[in-house]
Parts: sequence; structure tokens; C-alpha cells
Amino acid sequence: MQFETENLEDYEIKKAVWDIIKKFDTIIIHRHVRPDPDAIGSQCGLKEMIKATFPEKTVLVEGASVDDLEYLDTMDYVEKDLYDDALVIVTDTANIKRIDGENYRMAKQWIKIDHHPLDDSYGEVEWINTEASSCSEMVADLWLTFPDEITMTSKAARLLYGGIVGDTNRFLYDGTSPYTMKVAGELMTFDFSYTDLNDKMNEIEPTTSKMMGYALEHFELSKDGIGHIILTQEILKTLGVEDSDTHPVVPFLGKIAGVKVWAVFVEQPEGTYRCRLRSKGPVINIIASNHGGGGHPLASGAHAKDMKEIEAILNELKANV
Ligand code: AMP
Repeated sequence: MQFETENLEDYEIKKAVWDIIKKFDTIIIHRHVRPDPDAIGSQCGLKEMIKATFPEKTVLVEGASVDDLEYLDTMDYVEKDLYDDALVIVTDTANIKRIDGENYRMAKQWIKIDHHPLDDSYGEVEWINTEASSCSEMVADLWLTFPDEITMTSKAARLLYGGIVGDTNRFLYDGTSPYTMKVAGELMTFDFSYTDLNDKMNEIEPTTSKMMGYALEHFELSKDGIGHIILTQEILKTLGVEDSDTHPVVPFLGKIAGVKVWAVFVEQPEGTYRCRLRSKGPVINIIASNHGGGGHPLASGAHAKDMKEIEAILNELKANV
């Protein structure tokens, strides 16, 4: 099935992306550090699509492996020399410093495919669609734009569906559009168990459930609807969890009535804090970029060097509601 392309400029960018992919024999796909299901889904889903369409091409995925996302896919080991004649595609990554892997700089050409607001400009072709729910939706959209040329497989469909589910929190977030549902519906016609995948994505470790209990108990909510929790290294150690286990707590805290904007601060081993910022209305990505981060208007990330900077972030969020 082919959907009508409404935006000609968007169509032309997609055509440019696909034309460049056709030209290269070696394609290496990167994504952002600390990947989430959308980063892995868009990266590995794109790899599977290209490989299925052009079995003779070398298509590899690069980046640190992440144990708790191995149910989606695993990374390749990419020899440095391969970059000399390669095309690099970076998915889901707004800024250069967040690209996972170093060697992308040595490639012949770069393409950026992203759904975040423009941060760093990079790549000969930049395909940015902030209307897309996820980068995985964009990759699936590439297939739906050229369905006679691009081969979709069950493995690619599973990866892209997983990426969309991850970034929309199962089609709940406002980035979910009628087109998102159409794309997801098309992917669901392939042979993979979306029930098993949804169950896996929804699963949390028993230690994480204890951490969520702690977070719910200690979540502070101000009169004006600003919620926050600080998870120190000491707390993480006591609960037997690591930073990478803390992400399920973020959407969960947003369920509490009265919360307009919320922040989860996780202390890193060196003493700084990773900040996850979420909002049900007020735009927060400008505040995130004031603190070394960025992201979407309603879902962003940043860094705080100490408690003083955490206070500053909370004050900025307060002034913004
Ligand atoms: P997270 O809170 O890590 O789930 O990220 C929420 C959104 O903000 C995602 O779209 C991330 O790509 C983006 N984001 C998180 N941390 C940063 C950062 N340090 N710089 C730029 N964007 C970020």
C-alpha cells in the first residue's frame, strides 16, 4: 500500500536519501548514545530494510551494545577501514556529540535522519521530520514512500514497530498521529508477535519495581504542578539498580494527578546528574538546552553538575508553567 505524500519537499528529501543509499556498497548506521528502543529500532530496522533490498551491499550497525535492549537487536563489530568508502547514516540523533561511535567522521558521506527539533546540522542530506512520532516511523515512512523499490521484512517490521511503541509510550504521547497508527498498522501485517514484543517492552525487573515504589513514595509535587525526584548513587545502590534501570519510572510519575511538568534526576558515579524532563503542556526543551541538553518540546534530557543546578532547573520549570 502507498500513502499519498503531502509534502513535496519532504518527498524530495526522502528521494535524495534513498538515491544516496542506492549508490553506496558499504553503509554503516549509527544512532545516539544511551539508546532507547527508537534509536535501536530505527538503526537496525533501516539496516534490515537495506539488506533485504540490496543483499550484495555491506550494511552494518555501530554503537555500544546495550544488554537490556538485546531482545530488539545487537550491534556489529565495524572495522575502521570500512569507513573509507562508506556512507554513514545517523538515526535519531539531534546533536553530533551524542552520536555513539567515533569513526563516523571518516566516512565519505553522511545522512542524518531524525525527528528531533534541529540542533546540530550535519550530513550531506538532513532529513528531519519533527511531526513524526519517532525515527522508526520515519524509516517505515521511507519504505511506504517507495514500496516498489524497498523490501520490508518481518525482522525490520518488528524493529520499527518496537521503536514506535517505545517513543510513543504505546501510542499515548502527543507525537502519535493518525499517520503513526497507519504506519504501525502496516508493520503489524508482517509476521512477528507484537504481543510478545509489547510484553517484553513493558516488563520491568523486580529491582526496578522496588525503585519505582521508592520514586512514587518520595516524588515531590509542588502546588504549581512541578514534580521531581532525585535518585542519588546511594539510593540506587541500596535498591540494587543502575541508571539504565531508571527509565520506566519517568512515564509512570506523569500519571499522578496534578503533575504538569516533572523531572527525574539520576546521580552519575562521578557526582553529576542526568536529568529527564517531561511536560504535559509547557515547552521544556529550551530549559533542557540551557543545561547542556535538548530534545522534544514535551520530552527532553539535560545535565546538572550539582544540587545547585538542579535547583536552577526546577526554578526555570516553575517560572515556565
Ligand atoms: P530521555 O529523557 O533520555 O528519555 O530523553 C528524552 C528526549 O530528550 C529524547 O528525545 C532524547 O534524545 C533527548 N535528550 C536526552 N538527553 C539529551 C541530551 N543530553 N542532549 C540532547 N537531547 C537529549
